[in-house]
Amino acid sequence: MKHVSKRTLSRRLAALYGKMAQAYAQAAPQGFTCRDCASNCCVSYFQHHTHIEWHYLWEGLDALPAERREAYVERARDYVAKARQALDEGRTPDAMCPLNDEGGCGLYEHRMMICRLYGVPNVVLGRDGLRQFPGCPRCMDLADPAKPPVVDRTPLYRELAQLEMEFLGSRRNQTPKVDMTLAEMILAGPPR
Ligand code: SF4
Ligand code: SF4
Repeated sequence: MKHVSKRTLSRRLAALYGKMAQAYAQAAPQGFTCRDCASNCCVSYFQHHTHIEWHYLWEGLDALPAERREAYVERARDYVAKARQALDEGRTPDAMCPLNDEGGCGLYEHRMMICRLYGVPNVVLGRDGLRQFPGCPRCMDLADPAKPPVVDRTPLYRELAQLEMEFLGSRRNQTPKVDMTLAEMILAGPPR
């Protein structure tokens, strides 16, 4: 596989994120917005799986003034401790994402795929068949039950998988899969 620079891959990832935004906006019911949402989904517990998105997240963090970046690192430390405690107690962690600034995303342009697609119902066709992801309550309240909204993640996932392969290059068969929360990715520093 031909070597492609990280800068080029980041540009292509940004373009893919643009496609995600377009697919999401096209499928979303009229009037759907996250503004002033009381049930902020940034408290949801999830892992991220690609090195390329982890790298892009860190591009955003590196571009911040050092003080602000340090504040996010501090919050990430706090998040990881709270998540560990919740898991030890058999609960699903529900702490606020360390990048959330009073309801808004502090790293909006660099947020990850899962943050971009949650809200409107999604489907993805994989090796195990079709998987479905429900929409959030606010979206479903606005949705027309006769014509439920849906985003097909399949082509978006495929493009992300291709970018991940190119990002890893010759290491792709030796590199273990990522399975980290965003807070863990912040604490770990950029992927090597
Ligand atoms: S996606 Fe839904 S739950 Fe999440 S902030 Fe937006 S409206 Fe609220
Ligand atoms: S990265 Fe941004 S959008 Fe994603 S969970 Fe954190 S604050 Fe919310």
